[in-house]
Amino acid sequence: SDDAWVAAVTAQLGKVQHTSNLYFTEPCARLAQLLCERTGMKKVFFSNSGAEANECAIKAARRYAEQKYPGRENVIITLKNSFHGRTITTLSATGQDTFHTDFLPMTQGFVHTPANDIDALTALFRQYNVAGFMFEAVQGEGGVLPLDKEFVQAAAELCKKHDALLMADEVQTGNGRTGMLYGYMNFDVQPDVVSTAKGLAGGLPLGATMLGEKAADVFTPGSHGSTFGGNPVCCAGAISIFERIDDTLMADVRAKSQYIFDSLTGAPGIKSVSGMGLMIGIETVGDAGAVVKACMDAGVLVLTAKTKVRLLPALNIPMELVKEAVEVIKTVCQQAM
Ligand code: PLP
Repeated sequence: SDDAWVAAVTAQLGKVQHTSNLYFTEPCARLAQLLCERTGMKKVFFSNSGAEANECAIKAARRYAEQKYPGRENVIITLKNSFHGRTITTLSATGQDTFHTDFLPMTQGFVHTPANDIDALTALFRQYNVAGFMFEAVQGEGGVLPLDKEFVQAAAELCKKHDALLMADEVQTGNGRTGMLYGYMNFDVQPDVVSTAKGLAGGLPLGATMLGEKAADVFTPGSHGSTFGGNPVCCAGAISIFERIDDTLMADVRAKSQYIFDSLTGAPGIKSVSGMGLMIGIETVGDAGAVVKACMDAGVLVLTAKTKVRLLPALNIPMELVKEAVEVIKTVCQQAM
């Protein structure tokens, strides 16, 4: 119930709450402009969720390859242990068999390669015609595992060399989560496609797929669309959030992150701490599920990621609450040993 967000959303509700996608609205255009200004991207397609934002990225890569190399059979490379969404095609992009089992057959055209293995990735680029490479800067559902900078930079080089699209899935790592506006910014690379959602509109459904120079003209009117995508109310909420993801907030996110890392690393019952910014994974001695439950009973909401406890607090969480939560987590981890 953030005041600025409530004011922005309710003001927009009093103006226009929906239009057909034949028209654009001021909040939608303004948000696209803000996103492009701060990422160097050229165009934005708005949808309603992270999975849809990734579907759009996947369609962009396929269409890019089809337009440049007509009739060629292409693949999109993603990482083992990745997570890209729950529609059939984004599940296919997801490099974890457990998510596939009950929903076969998957969409064709995806190959998965181990994270941080430059040789394996290079070999796939030799073996296949690659339309795109999609990655999370920090594998979230996969266990809060940041990628190596050298690996992401090598992937960017390979994409350039083979005319494939470098696609950053910033659904979980985006909008300030890692202490930078987008997670890829930690690696000094410039993706061709960036997809994001989750916190973008402060809790209202909004997905965005940003297209850089290379892919800017890949979609033409009618080649992709969404009835509710870019809804003006959601976009107005997003503008009020996005304008506040500034250097001050990012410095604050990094400071809180440092405090959490310093407080939890080496504490009894904690084997290791991983992640970036306010996206943190804790490898616990005791069972992670039991730790999550005990934290919840003590008033601290956390979740799991594989066998780890995962922290994804609101970026504007006050420092006093961070301190209080850290004490609870430490006590619970020690008791769960
Ligand atoms: N991509 C990543 C990296 C995610 O973490 C998620 C959701 O957790 C998604 C895509 C799917 O987003 P949504 O649930 O909004 O469809």
